Amino acid sequence: MGWHEMCTWPAMIAADVLRTACPYCGVGCGIVLESGPDGLRLEGDAQHPGNRGKLCSKGRTLLHAALRTDTRLLHPEMRDGRDQPRRRVPWAEAIARTAERFRAIQKRHGRDAVALYVSGQCLTEEYYLANKLAKGFLGTNNIDTNSRLCMSSAVAGHKATLGSDCVPGCYEDIDLADTWLVTGANMAFAHPILFRRLEAAKAADPARKLIVIDPRRTDTAQSADLHLAIRPGSDVALHLALGHELLRQGAVDETWISDHAAGWERLRPLLEVWSPDRAAAVCDVPAADIATAASWLAGRRWMSLWTMGLNQSSSGTDKVASLINLSLITGTVGKPGCGPFSLTGQPNAMGGREVGGLANLLPAHRSLASAADRNQVEDFWGVPRGTIPAAPGLTAVELVEALRSGRCKAVWIIATNPVASLPAALRCDEALRAAELVVVQDAYANDTLPFADIVLPAATWPEKCGSMTTSERRVHLVEAARPPPGEARPDWRIIRDVAVAMGFDAAFAFADEAAVFAEHCALTRGTDCDMSGLSHERLRRERSLQWPCPDEGHPGTDRLFADGRFPTHDGRARLWSGEPAQRHEAVDAEFPLILTTGRIRDQWHTQTRSGLVNKLVRTEPAAFCEIHPDDAAARGIGDGDLVEIVSRRGACRARARLGDGIRTGVCFLP
Ligand code: SF4
Repeated sequence: MGWHEMCTWPAMIAADVLRTACPYCGVGCGIVLESGPDGLRLEGDAQHPGNRGKLCSKGRTLLHAALRTDTRLLHPEMRDGRDQPRRRVPWAEAIARTAERFRAIQKRHGRDAVALYVSGQCLTEEYYLANKLAKGFLGTNNIDTNSRLCMSSAVAGHKATLGSDCVPGCYEDIDLADTWLVTGANMAFAHPILFRRLEAAKAADPARKLIVIDPRRTDTAQSADLHLAIRPGSDVALHLALGHELLRQGAVDETWISDHAAGWERLRPLLEVWSPDRAAAVCDVPAADIATAASWLAGRRWMSLWTMGLNQSSSGTDKVASLINLSLITGTVGKPGCGPFSLTGQPNAMGGREVGGLANLLPAHRSLASAADRNQVEDFWGVPRGTIPAAPGLTAVELVEALRSGRCKAVWIIATNPVASLPAALRCDEALRAAELVVVQDAYANDTLPFADIVLPAATWPEKCGSMTTSERRVHLVEAARPPPGEARPDWRIIRDVAVAMGFDAAFAFADEAAVFAEHCALTRGTDCDMSGLSHERLRRERSLQWPCPDEGHPGTDRLFADGRFPTHDGRARLWSGEPAQRHEAVDAEFPLILTTGRIRDQWHTQTRSGLVNKLVRTEPAAFCEIHPDDAAARGIGDGDLVEIVSRRGACRARARLGDGIRTGVCFLP
């Protein structure tokens, strides 16, 4: 059966205009594709509530990347031994071999001897099928995702405070806020379209304030009314001191706390001892600036926006929870122009959390630790109770160690490039070399490909159809505008076919992506991310809706918790109280500098797609290491010199870029 018969092929041919979405980042900008005599044309979708017609440099150049097929995987391949080259094989052979080897390894070594490593790039339907196959049918929780690297602290921080992995607000809050507290996020580069909304709101009313917390004077920080260039890792102390000042300035809403939150009796004394003076010594910022920042939050509509600077940390959960505290104690969660806002990096990190696509999650925000929740999912999938293990599976980093040690034997990697993106990269190389079986399912020939025993070539944007959820819980449809090149196929279909080849025909008898989505939505019924009112057909008609959306007449939900009720057993939010922890390595004589990382404006992830666009590559053609002139002088480094950056875990080379926009003692790599 050919691709056209298997996949939804919507309006593109018939109407010549297709509304879809950008696949790069969690902002989720709407895109219009038009086909004309000269081929496809792309522009921002003026009707999309997220971007209102605007696109950043990456979104605008998507077609340049999409039209290049020279780095695409076009045919299934496999090899019979590690000393053999891979050879092109028919799809049926690659699917059968994947299924047979996975089942054989499980039979020989137990069900946890296999793992899937998936991606926030996956569409929800693909994510759902991979998670269903692993947990419900292979009987292992060994499915983790590259979202582990970016969002797992945010998930834990949301659950610890709000009782659920929910972003309470929406993009409209950016337009309505009086003060934005942007921390650990270079929005101007990483979430540019949202930052433009913020800039427009600020320009409309100069009394509005932008506070940026970042060790570097980023492009975002340069637009700030107040930049707190903190010592890396000292965020919790700063959050406590902001809480202290809010308390001192009478801006804590104790009535709201008493009605809607628990834990104030523990948090209040902690805030009382974290004065700005004390925090200033830890964070290395002026105490007066901390007091000023608090005064710009006090009594105003304010929101926090954060991303990897908080999440990617040994204390990430503490940082997220202590930041959300500030919204809770000011009683501002769920109100227009207010609330904590976690900016997701990947286009469908949120969708992945909805399907339970981490080693410690179940679909629709259910708890793996709860027998009732596991039974509910098992009953829904029609598998015997007890199929889903209670214990969490291997997380991304644990998976690397399990493969290295031989505890795990096989890994199926879907739409991600762990050799380039996992920490301690050399250990990942060792892990993939030690594995008995490595299956790579991807659209592009990436750094992980050389380790593959089986290659499953996948479709990518704009060749496949399915849903994604943006940072504001907005579910929208990505449409297929043309067939994939060569023999590449949509990921959902590849996963379905492997599942069927494993013998799980009945549970994976999906005719198309819409049927997968319908099952996913049905499983969310009655949960805090209820999407049972959504369908592909409705999304195609209405373009996008925010969950919860529990029935077909429901308009979706812009803000959560407006009534002050939270999804905890007593309906109260939880105030987190903890002292700043020092879990990170300290600098010493051997390793005297702190290395931070971040994004550059025009590239994305490991550059498999954005690196194909000359226009994007030209703006930042080579890696650089930003370093303060004093630190550079102490090491005899000049601007533009090639330097080697060495940590306890590895080394790399880059051109030195000297500038006083970074603190002394800190350097930065993109
Ligand atoms: Fe795409 Fe993100 Fe840029 Fe929007 S902001 S166009 S979603 S990369």
